Amino acid sequence: MIDSITIERIQSASQIYEVVSDFVTLKKRGVNYVGICPFHEDNTPSLYVSPAKNLYKCFACGEGGTAIHFVMKYEQLSYPEALQYLAKKYGIEFREIKMSNEQKQIQNIREAMFILNSFAQKTFSTNLFDTKEGQSVGLSYFRKRNFRKDIIQKFQLGYADSQRDSFTQTAIRAGYKQEYLKKTGLSIIEKNYTIDRFRERVIFPIHTLSGKIVAFGGRILKKEEKVAKYVNSLESEIYHKSNELYGIYFARQAIVKYDQCYLVEGYTDVISMHQAGIENVVASAGTALTQGQIRLIRRFTKNITVLYDRDTAGIKAALRSINLLLETGLNIKTVLLPEGEDPDSFSQKQSATSFNNYIKKNETDFVRFKVELLMQDAGNDPIKKVQILTETVYTIALIPEEITRLIYVKECSYLLDIDERLLMHNVEKKREELFLQKKKNDKLQLQKTEQQNTINNLPSLEHNLNLSFPFYEYETNIMYYVVRYGEQYFYYEYEDEGTNELISANLNVIEFIVSDLEEDEIELHYPLYRKMLKEGYEWCKKNNFIAEEYYKNHSDIKISHFAVDISTDKYIESKVFSQYKETKVNEEKLKTTKQSQINKMLLKEIPYVMLNYKNAILKHRVETINKQIKLAEKGNNFDKQKELISQLSGLLKTKKVIALRLRERIITKL
Ligand SMILES: [Zn+2]
Repeated sequence: MIDSITIERIQSASQIYEVVSDFVTLKKRGVNYVGICPFHEDNTPSLYVSPAKNLYKCFACGEGGTAIHFVMKYEQLSYPEALQYLAKKYGIEFREIKMSNEQKQIQNIREAMFILNSFAQKTFSTNLFDTKEGQSVGLSYFRKRNFRKDIIQKFQLGYADSQRDSFTQTAIRAGYKQEYLKKTGLSIIEKNYTIDRFRERVIFPIHTLSGKIVAFGGRILKKEEKVAKYVNSLESEIYHKSNELYGIYFARQAIVKYDQCYLVEGYTDVISMHQAGIENVVASAGTALTQGQIRLIRRFTKNITVLYDRDTAGIKAALRSINLLLETGLNIKTVLLPEGEDPDSFSQKQSATSFNNYIKKNETDFVRFKVELLMQDAGNDPIKKVQILTETVYTIALIPEEITRLIYVKECSYLLDIDERLLMHNVEKKREELFLQKKKNDKLQLQKTEQQNTINNLPSLEHNLNLSFPFYEYETNIMYYVVRYGEQYFYYEYEDEGTNELISANLNVIEFIVSDLEEDEIELHYPLYRKMLKEGYEWCKKNNFIAEEYYKNHSDIKISHFAVDISTDKYIESKVFSQYKETKVNEEKLKTTKQSQINKMLLKEIPYVMLNYKNAILKHRVETINKQIKLAEKGNNFDKQKELISQLSGLLKTKKVIALRLRERIITKL
């Protein structure tokens, strides 16, 4: 746990715009900012950032929250880790007090792995520069590649020596645990032997977006047939291959600056291009491009240029992964490099300017590139020509924008010498097919998700599940006032039932609701709300307690999500509230009115909301007792029947009183 003063300081220092714009390009729109949401496949900017509310919210996927939540979600950090990140960003001294064991464990594992990776990187770098083997094998290899020292240091390149467990021994001597050596995959530890994963290889550390090392790639320099040229870290708690792109940490700013990203194949391509001054470049490094990697690029730009060398096997493999890019509506250009060159060798012969000029002159859009390439391959073979047509139709059908599809149909009908209408017809047919297929897949996916009961990213589904809690709608309505106005005091008068005396009280909203529920011995049914109300009651007497801030910044993500939804008015439009619409206050109007009017509003609204809730509970009880009476009748159980009927008449009396008060409320509202 982190002490509450530090948390408060971090919360108040963290400006949502500053935090989000480190990762997402934001454009001003009115008083807010908008950007492409990094949490779903976003085509139009759906992510809203409100500096005034200090919140972000995606109106497509529902993700939203404070700066802390954004960092948690984006960097996949725990709550304390996110606080630490923000403390660092804003130069706030970070003190920790005791954490729960579970928190400690999770955080410790991840942190220990990052720390160990950082230690490994330093060890490999020292090997490279300061040992004989490192210099003669590793450094001389990089020199042969013409890598400058500053570039080697920037990318934190290194060397793992040829002894079987020298790194493992070094790490253990330095106090690192075997457990983490195994988890990070740096060491292969079995019952009867221990061995370094990386031996006699130059090392390329793989950085996250925020610059932490999640994994390593190692390239062997000797020509041995039985040994893989590249070895990579295994997937782990911190490393998911399909979500990382080599070079993204160093490329991020340049990608935003030029609104464009080069995609290459290998580590050395990225490094050489950097050295030539072209920094907006990343590599998928050994894997076929994945959705996760595309999302990573899309956070920064929609324009991707794929660089190919002329090795045909490589091109064909790459062509397949490009279909993925098309589907997401990215603008893809391709450039074939001159015969015998790859991005690495080519950029070494160029300045940044001449390199960029070559690209400008030679880039073609992807569809044309693909068709031309396939045509060269097919020659005059009619069967192959049909295959090209099928392939082309498929590729064009993947493109989301209609206008872009039309342009390609025109162009390809010319290239393939095929009637334009015929091609169009086939594309539309294919699209329909793809659409149906997708619908089927989505349905399957949804079923799977429902089965697994993982409802995190499906707010509507979660909502439906919640609806099965009794009185969920009524309790949500109560919680609206708890979150929105919890700390507001309002002057309240009521008639004491015993003495008929008029009693006045000055309670805040939370206190009123708690005491009102207690009076009738009612507890909220929905566990999350119960927890929120209980905590709010404990905190609301503190001097500067503001309910909305308290809940929004809550470390329980469910609570803060709920509070964020409430303060971004999602619930007001939802079905849950439609039945209370007439009771809802006009928020805009309210802002301009005085405190006294807020009090007036609360005085009107809150007792009404509470009465409505109690009325619903009573109605339910009456129904239950009626059922029980019928059962008792059937069983000829007269005593039971009598008892139930007297209970019922008591309930009905109370219900009448409530109904009367409700009617009064409605009348006074008119
Ligand atoms: Zn979203």
